[in-house]
Amino acid sequence: MTHHVDDQVARWARREPLLALLSRATRGVLLPEEGALLRAAVDTELAAAERAERQRDDARRIAVALENQLAAVRGLHVDSITASGVVRFNPDTGGDTAYCTHDSQNWPCATIRAIEEQP
Ligand SMILES: [Zn+2]
Repeated sequence: MTHHVDDQVARWARREPLLALLSRATRGVLLPEEGALLRAAVDTELAAAERAERQRDDARRIAVALENQLAAVRGLHVDSITASGVVRFNPDTGGDTAYCTHDSQNWPCATIRAIEEQP
Protein backbone atom coordinates (compact mmCIF):
# COMPACT_ATOMS: atom_id res chain seq x y z
CA MET A 1 0.00 0.00 0.00
CA THR A 2 2.80 2.38 0.91
CA HIS A 3 4.53 1.35 -2.29
CA HIS A 4 1.38 2.29 -4.23
CA VAL A 5 1.25 5.72 -2.55
CA ASP A 6 4.95 6.26 -3.30
CA ASP A 7 4.30 5.42 -6.97
CA GLN A 8 1.44 7.88 -7.05
CA VAL A 9 3.51 10.69 -5.46
CA ALA A 10 6.35 10.03 -7.91
CA ARG A 11 3.89 10.06 -10.84
CA TRP A 12 2.45 13.40 -9.79
CA ALA A 13 5.98 14.84 -9.32
CA ARG A 14 6.84 13.81 -12.92
CA ARG A 15 3.60 15.18 -14.35
CA GLU A 16 4.29 18.93 -14.05
CA PRO A 17 7.64 18.99 -15.93
CA LEU A 18 6.22 16.62 -18.56
CA LEU A 19 3.24 18.91 -19.16
CA ALA A 20 5.57 21.95 -19.34
CA LEU A 21 7.71 20.20 -21.96
CA LEU A 22 4.63 19.17 -23.97
CA SER A 23 3.35 22.72 -23.83
CA ARG A 24 6.66 24.01 -25.19
CA ALA A 25 6.68 21.35 -27.90
CA THR A 26 3.14 22.33 -28.92
CA ARG A 27 4.22 25.94 -29.26
CA GLY A 28 7.25 24.88 -31.32
CA VAL A 29 9.75 26.37 -28.88
CA LEU A 30 11.30 23.14 -27.59
CA LEU A 31 15.09 23.30 -27.32
CA PRO A 32 17.05 20.23 -28.54
CA GLU A 33 18.05 19.27 -24.98
CA GLU A 34 14.40 19.61 -23.93
CA GLY A 35 13.51 17.17 -26.70
CA ALA A 36 15.75 14.61 -25.02
CA LEU A 37 14.11 15.36 -21.66
CA LEU A 38 10.66 14.93 -23.22
CA ARG A 39 11.67 11.58 -24.70
CA ALA A 40 13.05 10.43 -21.33
CA ALA A 41 9.86 11.55 -19.57
CA VAL A 42 7.65 9.70 -22.06
CA ASP A 43 9.84 6.58 -21.78
CA THR A 44 9.46 6.73 -17.98
CA GLU A 45 5.65 7.02 -18.25
CA LEU A 46 5.42 4.14 -20.74
CA ALA A 47 7.58 1.94 -18.48
CA ALA A 48 5.43 2.88 -15.46
CA ALA A 49 2.26 2.01 -17.37
CA GLU A 50 3.66 -1.38 -18.42
CA ARG A 51 4.77 -2.08 -14.84
CA ALA A 52 1.28 -1.23 -13.57
CA GLU A 53 -0.31 -3.53 -16.15
CA ARG A 54 1.97 -6.40 -15.11
CA GLN A 55 1.16 -5.81 -11.44
CA ARG A 56 -2.57 -5.76 -12.22
CA ASP A 57 -2.30 -9.00 -14.21
CA ASP A 58 -0.31 -10.64 -11.39
CA ALA A 59 -2.93 -9.52 -8.85
CA ARG A 60 -5.72 -10.96 -11.03
CA ARG A 61 -3.92 -14.29 -11.37
CA ILE A 62 -3.40 -14.44 -7.60
CA ALA A 63 -7.06 -13.56 -6.97
CA VAL A 64 -8.24 -16.34 -9.31
CA ALA A 65 -5.89 -18.86 -7.65
CA LEU A 66 -7.17 -17.87 -4.19
CA GLU A 67 -10.80 -18.13 -5.33
CA ASN A 68 -10.09 -21.62 -6.66
CA GLN A 69 -8.45 -22.65 -3.40
CA LEU A 70 -11.40 -21.26 -1.45
CA ALA A 71 -13.83 -23.17 -3.67
CA ALA A 72 -11.84 -26.36 -3.04
CA VAL A 73 -12.10 -25.86 0.75
CA ARG A 74 -15.83 -25.12 0.44
CA GLY A 75 -16.20 -28.29 -1.62
CA LEU A 76 -14.75 -30.32 1.27
CA HIS A 77 -17.01 -28.78 3.93
CA VAL A 78 -20.57 -29.65 2.93
CA ASP A 79 -23.59 -29.62 5.22
CA SER A 80 -25.19 -33.02 5.82
CA ILE A 81 -28.59 -31.97 4.48
CA THR A 82 -27.16 -30.93 1.12
CA ALA A 83 -24.89 -33.97 1.01
CA SER A 84 -27.38 -36.67 2.00
CA GLY A 85 -30.46 -35.17 3.64
CA VAL A 86 -29.26 -36.34 7.05
CA VAL A 87 -29.57 -34.45 10.34
CA ARG A 88 -28.61 -35.44 13.87
CA PHE A 89 -29.95 -34.70 17.31
CA ASN A 90 -28.39 -31.62 18.90
CA PRO A 91 -28.51 -31.84 22.72
CA ASP A 92 -27.83 -28.09 22.97
CA THR A 93 -31.05 -27.16 21.17
CA GLY A 94 -33.05 -30.34 21.68
CA GLY A 95 -33.70 -30.40 17.93
CA ASP A 96 -32.15 -31.80 14.80
CA THR A 97 -29.10 -30.10 13.32
CA ALA A 98 -27.18 -30.35 10.09
CA TYR A 99 -23.50 -31.09 10.48
CA CYS A 100 -20.37 -30.76 8.36
CA THR A 101 -19.68 -34.02 6.53
CA HIS A 102 -15.94 -33.28 6.60
CA ASP A 103 -15.29 -32.54 10.28
CA SER A 104 -18.63 -33.55 11.90
CA GLN A 105 -19.07 -30.15 13.63
CA ASN A 106 -22.53 -28.63 13.81
CA TRP A 107 -23.30 -26.62 10.67
CA PRO A 108 -21.81 -24.20 9.84
CA CYS A 109 -18.49 -25.65 10.97
CA ALA A 110 -15.60 -23.44 12.12
CA THR A 111 -13.98 -23.57 8.68
CA ILE A 112 -17.09 -22.34 6.88
CA ARG A 113 -17.64 -19.65 9.55
CA ALA A 114 -14.03 -18.46 9.08
CA ILE A 115 -14.45 -18.34 5.29
CA GLU A 116 -17.68 -16.36 5.54
CA GLU A 117 -16.33 -13.77 7.99
CA GLN A 118 -15.84 -10.45 6.24
CA PRO A 119 -12.16 -9.48 6.06
ZN1 LIG B 1 -16.37 -28.35 8.03
